[in-house]
Amino acid sequence: TDAHLSAIEKARVLNAFVMETPDQARSMAREADARIAKGGAGPLAGIPLGIKDLFATRGVRTTACSKILGNFVPTYESTVTSQLWRDGAVMLGKLNNDEFAMGSANETSCFGPVGNPWRREGSNTTLVAGGSSGGSASAVAALLCMGATATDTGGSIRQPAAFTATVGIKPTYGRCSRWGIVAFASSLDQAGPIARSTRDAAMLLRSMAGHDPKDTTSVDIAVPDYEAAIGKSVKGMKIGVPREYRLDGMPAEIEKLWSEGAAWLKAAGAELVEVSLPHTKYALPAYYIVAPAEASSNLARYDGVRYGLREQAKNIIELYENTRAEGFGAEVRRRVMIGTYVLSAGYYDAYYLRAQKVRTLIKRDFEDCFAKGINAILTPATPSAAFGIGEKGGADPVEMYLNDIFTVTVNMAGLPGIAVPAGKDSQGLPLGLQLIGRPFEEETLFSLGEVIE
Ligand code: GLN
Repeated sequence: TDAHLSAIEKARVLNAFVMETPDQARSMAREADARIAKGGAGPLAGIPLGIKDLFATRGVRTTACSKILGNFVPTYESTVTSQLWRDGAVMLGKLNNDEFAMGSANETSCFGPVGNPWRREGSNTTLVAGGSSGGSASAVAALLCMGATATDTGGSIRQPAAFTATVGIKPTYGRCSRWGIVAFASSLDQAGPIARSTRDAAMLLRSMAGHDPKDTTSVDIAVPDYEAAIGKSVKGMKIGVPREYRLDGMPAEIEKLWSEGAAWLKAAGAELVEVSLPHTKYALPAYYIVAPAEASSNLARYDGVRYGLREQAKNIIELYENTRAEGFGAEVRRRVMIGTYVLSAGYYDAYYLRAQKVRTLIKRDFEDCFAKGINAILTPATPSAAFGIGEKGGADPVEMYLNDIFTVTVNMAGLPGIAVPAGKDSQGLPLGLQLIGRPFEEETLFSLGEVIE
């Protein structure tokens, strides 16, 4: 814990932590030592972790990196983090993320952008660590913590993992409790770990997962020993390679990495099969209707009355307006406007309902594949390596949205997906591959992921 606390101090330039909690960390570490000495310590005893600032932590400021939450200090602990503490883990502090987890570059945080510890060869340009869990990925990659919590609504665990050569898994929807996590799009949000290896990710997920009566969408299925899946043979597994993910104009190095990944799995005894997921091209537009719609509804609670920021006003309407105009950043305001529009009378059927129907078709594509005996699907994790801070999405937000092209389908279908480091681009930057699994078969992803890693 001490070593990590001093590493955090030296790496403040990355802006990965928005709050350091050294006193709490040391006392948790001492407690872990005491439990180890007595015997019966948890599986994560003494392991120092960073916590994305979307997870409510009792007595420790939780902001979702939005001005509107101001100095909100929860009086309760999220289920996921309380399970980590139950198992002995230590909290080093709270990690930066895109405001309300909306973004793909960790540039929309009210605390400013996060830097990626990786650099292009021969260049000093600071690159993004991906988003929205950029703080989690950067901190793990820079060895500031042994692992981190993260959340993924459309790719926010997997894309930052791919940009930083770390491992990130978004489990099946319902695997981890969403209780105590600031809501973005409730039908898509899932918590998961970002870690240094598939083994570490497996150990963290085991503590994070599990049924919670406080989240009605959490599923009551026993949590397996994910670590046992590491090193397990993948012989005879059928891996689908979806032809619709072969995009026009895809960089040759991404294609090459994808084929290499397939070759490694084949060498390990898996069978590679070309498959079709015909509705893939509708996933991104449908996601950018469903996610803002749910966000506009979830964010209605930030009204200047219940929590956080409250601006001066003459009456209640003005209070809402002033608080929300001042408290939300540009990207969040854009999402609220899009979401409100697609849910409004006259547009609901044309946009929201349609997007939900498309979502069903996307889910069916995967179900058809799995029904044919496919165990997992292999795709690139991102369409490019990390880019420079401020390089993308400035004039055109859609340019930023396109980053999620390979990841959103997984959230739309509620499936588990893992990103594992697989290679480097011509400038020496990490690239990741994604494996998509059957519902509640995260173990398969750990076994396959470890082969690639
Ligand atoms: N980049 C996507 C978005 O901005 C996904 C974010 C996430 O998974 N939280 O909506």
